[in-house]
Amino acid sequence: MTPLITAPDQVAAALAEDPVGFARHADAVLEGADPLTILAWAGRAFGRGLAVTAAMGDTALAHLASRAVPGVHVLFVDTGYHFGETLGTADAVAAAYPVRLITVRAPQSVVSHEAERGRLYRSDSDACCALRKVAPLDSALSGYRAWATGLRRSDSPARALTPTVAWDARREVLKLAPIAAWTEEDLDAYLDAHPEVISNPLLQMGYPSIGCWPCTQPVAEGADPRSGRWAGSGKTECGIHYQI
Ligand code: SF4
Repeated sequence: MTPLITAPDQVAAALAEDPVGFARHADAVLEGADPLTILAWAGRAFGRGLAVTAAMGDTALAHLASRAVPGVHVLFVDTGYHFGETLGTADAVAAAYPVRLITVRAPQSVVSHEAERGRLYRSDSDACCALRKVAPLDSALSGYRAWATGLRRSDSPARALTPTVAWDARREVLKLAPIAAWTEEDLDAYLDAHPEVISNPLLQMGYPSIGCWPCTQPVAEGADPRSGRWAGSGKTECGIHYQI
């Protein structure tokens, strides 16, 4: 297999010529690679054009990125509906990890949003996610050329085919999932090996998957970890990852 190019100008030229082909080749080369290797490659290839997103659950990806690419930009989408524990986790990450935490928000405050649209999370959760999560992140990502997410194939059936690298055509960024292949056991092993990794306290309180407070419930021991998200509605994703 042809080695993966790393020089930023060559990567930029290859992406301009054939973004899908470049992403497929990068995926073939990086599939199975250590997450640190994947992130280090992205850091060299894109420099400050790389962003990492963090939902402020276990923060393992942000920790990995801080080791592989010190100073990396970590984007946290603050919908205005987060648990206090999640906001505290974001603050702790900003203070403890060598990253630049960038909080991304919708232009409209929750007060103004609810005055205009009511409690959209009850009446139309897809529209609420689109306005308070997806659009703000899309806007933030327009300033980057590569984006690393914490998606894992073991998260849910909908994520079972997540590639390690793909071209996100709508946002025009190279999308990386450095821990796509990690199982729950792999994640636990990383957290055991790195006790300094900051974790949202809600993880120990029956919330194995954490989103906004109106749309997240605790789940019973052994239940599908994502079953507490939009419980009873049939909705399983906020829309950020529909394309991968
Ligand atoms: S998860 Fe719920 S509260 Fe958060 S943006 Fe989506 S619908 Fe709104």
